[in-house]
Amino acid sequence: MSLRPQRGLDSIQSYVPGKPIGEVKRELGVDDVIKLASNENPFGVSPKALVAMRAALETVNIYPDGSSYDVRLAIAKHFGFELDQVAVGNGADDLLLELSMAYLDDGDEVIASRSSFPIYDIYTSAMRAKMIKTPLAPGYRLDLNAMARAITTRTRIVYVCNPNNPTGTIVTAREFDRFLKALPDDALLVLDEAYSEMVDSPDFPDGLGLVRQGRRNVIVLRTFSKVYGLAGIRLGYGFAHCDTLAPLFKVKPAFTVNSVAQAAGIAALEDEEFMQFTVTENRKGREFLYGELRRLGLEYAESHTNFILVKIGPRAIDVQKKLLTRGIIVRPCGGYDLAEFLRISIGTGDENRRLIASLGEALRT
Ligand SMILES: *Cc1c(COP(=O)(O)O)cnc(C)c1O
Repeated sequence: MSLRPQRGLDSIQSYVPGKPIGEVKRELGVDDVIKLASNENPFGVSPKALVAMRAALETVNIYPDGSSYDVRLAIAKHFGFELDQVAVGNGADDLLLELSMAYLDDGDEVIASRSSFPIYDIYTSAMRAKMIKTPLAPGYRLDLNAMARAITTRTRIVYVCNPNNPTGTIVTAREFDRFLKALPDDALLVLDEAYSEMVDSPDFPDGLGLVRQGRRNVIVLRTFSKVYGLAGIRLGYGFAHCDTLAPLFKVKPAFTVNSVAQAAGIAALEDEEFMQFTVTENRKGREFLYGELRRLGLEYAESHTNFILVKIGPRAIDVQKKLLTRGIIVRPCGGYDLAEFLRISIGTGDENRRLIASLGEALRT
C-alpha cells in the first residue's frame, strides 16, 4: 500500500510559470537576461510601496492582522465600497483558491473559455468539480454567447477573464450585459480583472458597478502584481456582496496576507503617479511593438494589457528557444491551447527594442 492523493489531482496539469531569470542564467550561461514572460511591471516597484515595505520589515516579529483591516479599508475607500465588500488574498491567485474551496462540491460544473487563465482549471480539479470549456470567438476573444449556452443547473462558477490572459482581448459591455441575463442567481460570475487598469476602451464593462448595485452572484478580482509592480510580495483583492464573501472568510488560512504586503497595498494605492506612468509607458510600448510586429509580418491579437499574443506559426517553440539563448524569456502558449503562439510581455523601451532585434534574427535563422 502507498499514499494516494485525492482523486481530483488526477486531472490536474501543473501550472508552468514563466522561467525564472536565475534558471536561464544557470542553464544557458547567458548573463544579461530579460523576462518578458509573466506580465510583470518592467518599471520596477511602486516607490511609495517600497518605502512602506521597508518600514514594515521592522515589525515582522509580530503576526500580521489576520483580517487585513487597514489594507481592506484603504481599498474600500479608494474604490468606494464598504469594508465587508472587500477581500484580500496572497495574490488574486489565493482568492481563486478560496473561491473554489468555498463554492465547489464534487461534480459541480465550472465554465471557462479555452485559452484563458490556467489556474482556474487547477482549483476546479482540486475540488473534484468539472471544467467545461468554450472555444474562443474570432479575434481571440472570449465567446460569452457560448459561455452562456454552456450554463446548466449544475453550473456553480463561470470565469470571465477580462481582459483575457493570454490573448489580451476584452469582452464588451454589450456582450457582457447579454451574458448577465443568462446567468442564474445560483451561479457565481468570477470577473478576473487583473489588467483592468491598462484598458482604454470605452466598451469595457463596469464590473465593479455590478457589485455596487448589490448583485450577489458576481465577484470582481484585481491585483497589485501587475500595474503596481508588486508581483513578488503577493497581494490581490476582490469585491463582492458581503454575503458572497462570507464563505471565503471561513476557508481562508489565518494569515494569508503578510504584514509587509498589507503595508505595500495601502501605500501603492496612494501612488497614482507610478500607476499612471506605468500605464502610459505600457501604451507607448504596445504601439511600438505593434508597428514592429507588423514590419516582421507577424499577426497578433489586439491587446488591452501589458502583453501581446503573437502568432509565430509551427516554429513557435523553436523561436522561443532561440530567444532564450539570446537571454530573452517569453511565454510559449501550448499550455493555453495556442501552440503556434508566443505571449510576450511589454517591457521598457530598451527591452522592447532588444526583443524585436532578437525576434527578427530568430525568425531569419
Ligand atoms: C496575474 C494574474 C492574476 C493574479 O495574479 P496574482 O499575482 O496572484 O495577484 C490573476 N488573473 C490573471 C488573469 C492574471 O494574469
